Amino acid sequence: MTRLAVVDRDYCKPDKCTLECIRFCPVNRTKKVKAIDLSEDKTHSVIFEDKCIGCGICVKKCPFNAISIVNVPDELEKQLVHRYGENMFKLYGLPVPKTGGVLGIIGKNGAGKTTSIKILSGQLKPNLGDYSSDPEWDRVVKAFKGSELQTYFSRLANNELKSVVKPQYIEAARRVLKGNVGELLSKADERGLFKDVVERLNLKNLLDRSVSELSGGELQKFLVAAVLLKNADAYFFDEPCSYLDVRERVRVADAIREFTNPSKNYVVVVEHDLMILDYISDNIVVIYGEPGVYGIASKPYGVRAGINHYLNGYLPAENMRIRPEAVRFRIQVAEKRFEESEYPVIKWERMIHQYPSSGFKLVVEEGEAYPGEVLGILGPNGVGKSTFIKLLSGELKPVEGSVLISAEKVSVKPQELSPKIFPEETVSQALRNASTDALNPASWLYNELVRKLRLNRMLDRRIEELSGGELQKVAVAVSLAREADLYLLDEPSAYLDVEERIVVARVIRRIIEEKRKTAIVVEHDLMLQNYISDKIVVFTGKPSIEGYASRTLNIREGFNTLLMNLSITVRKDSETGRPRINKPGSVLDREQKARGEYYIP
Ligand code: ADP
Ligand code: ADP
Ligand code: SF4
Repeated sequence: MTRLAVVDRDYCKPDKCTLECIRFCPVNRTKKVKAIDLSEDKTHSVIFEDKCIGCGICVKKCPFNAISIVNVPDELEKQLVHRYGENMFKLYGLPVPKTGGVLGIIGKNGAGKTTSIKILSGQLKPNLGDYSSDPEWDRVVKAFKGSELQTYFSRLANNELKSVVKPQYIEAARRVLKGNVGELLSKADERGLFKDVVERLNLKNLLDRSVSELSGGELQKFLVAAVLLKNADAYFFDEPCSYLDVRERVRVADAIREFTNPSKNYVVVVEHDLMILDYISDNIVVIYGEPGVYGIASKPYGVRAGINHYLNGYLPAENMRIRPEAVRFRIQVAEKRFEESEYPVIKWERMIHQYPSSGFKLVVEEGEAYPGEVLGILGPNGVGKSTFIKLLSGELKPVEGSVLISAEKVSVKPQELSPKIFPEETVSQALRNASTDALNPASWLYNELVRKLRLNRMLDRRIEELSGGELQKVAVAVSLAREADLYLLDEPSAYLDVEERIVVARVIRRIIEEKRKTAIVVEHDLMLQNYISDKIVVFTGKPSIEGYASRTLNIREGFNTLLMNLSITVRKDSETGRPRINKPGSVLDREQKARGEYYIP
């Protein structure tokens, strides 16, 4: 076995502890050799993997959980592709892109998906574990001898393979890119496809807008369009669906397949919305391992098998269990979670609201929500969801109809994430300001929010240093910790992996049930929305002109209404029960449409 010691530099703070890791290490205590010591600049601990006996004492002693020690088979070491540095993350193997189909990548956050994309796109030269020097391309190409990656890397080394990447975090692009959408897209257009891509992604109305003014979803589509317009041999899309509604997700998936020419080019997509990943990919590679410590790329599987193996937690070709239990999505149709004796917490009549300045008009059908209920919202952005919430809280008065029981206090988790949404500096300050109970380890709130969302480790961290996924979990926790009558969570899944999505969904349901309050959740990952909600309100309309909100529907009615509007049918996977989009025009698609059963007949 090979010893692998990782010290997370974001967490290791030698000036805030008593160096327990170094003092208690049994190798150090022999006073002959050292297995662990402070780095020269005294900013973190350094573990000498060849001297360490793997006892795990430092792992337990570190008050910040900054150390991981694992043993990996020597065999695996032969597949080492990259190590970022001393005591840092190791990536074993790589997803092998192939022409002839779209390759989907799935795995936990921190497992090495973005690292793989950086290497395959040529942004990061793999060092084969030797981080002290910059390896020659010859060595890299030789290391992949006999595999398809040999040709891939020799093309990359000789600048014969042009690649282009849609990055995971899009917020940074807003700061860097200056100019309006139309100008930037025509500059990016190396293939003469400007008109077609703009049309396909429905970007016409945005061409005169400055990039700095785009909403999250608009920015996402703009970046996907810019990548599609480039003339490349390899196209990479790192989470192309965050901030997009269901129609736009399908539109982006169709555009990627249509414009990247997967029969000739390499096309790789990382995505956690499994229904979309399933729809877009031909093959799947699972990246497993221990997040932040090491990642291993699996062999490619067919799309259905790959996603099912991932959910089942077992990879047959590798004979590897990647999770002790299977992940199952509960497909529920209608469930009553409130007591018959309880009164609604919010109740509204049919309402009409119109903003005099913009003319935007919203019609809302009547509805109600009971204590402990989660109301799911489906539909595009810009058709009045925020206006609806403002009506429910009494901030806006409708022109017609009224709210009979209103929610006076509303706690909001906004869609777009940025450290600026918090006035506080650290995670614990933000949680403490939301509720004094949130940081009391004896409280149920601490157990539900801090423990279940695994924020314990992050409490001292500065909010501006968090990754997108960490920021999302903190934002969800802070909004749920506050006292309110109504909780609005706008796209809580963005930047979370599949397992984190399920944990967040469970936490939302538990807190709302426990508090006997109501949550309204806007979520476009349908598998997740099905998991979270008890009832659905479907929004339709023309963005910024008019909106229509349906009455509260049960899950089946809600999903059916949405999918009928999109002309998409969805079936259930026989093995895992997960929803799968039918191929347009297929026998099942036609049959389900004829019967009017758009969602899982
Ligand atoms: P994923 O995309 O699957 O979430 P990443 O490839 O982004 O995972 O990261 C895998 C691991 O590598 C993470 O634990 C991260 O901390 C580490 N890592 C990423 N970039 C660097 C870097 N430049 N230096 C050191 N460690 C890094
Ligand atoms: P969503 O939450 O679904 O994205 P909103 O309710 O925020 O939609 O907005 C719907 C439309 O109403 C938008 O086109 C927006 O321009 C318009 N709007 C929102 N707030 C105001 C306001 N205070 N005055 C005028 N128009 C507004
Ligand atoms: Fe020392 Fe290694 Fe044990 Fe840590 S795991 S205490 S470095 S011997």
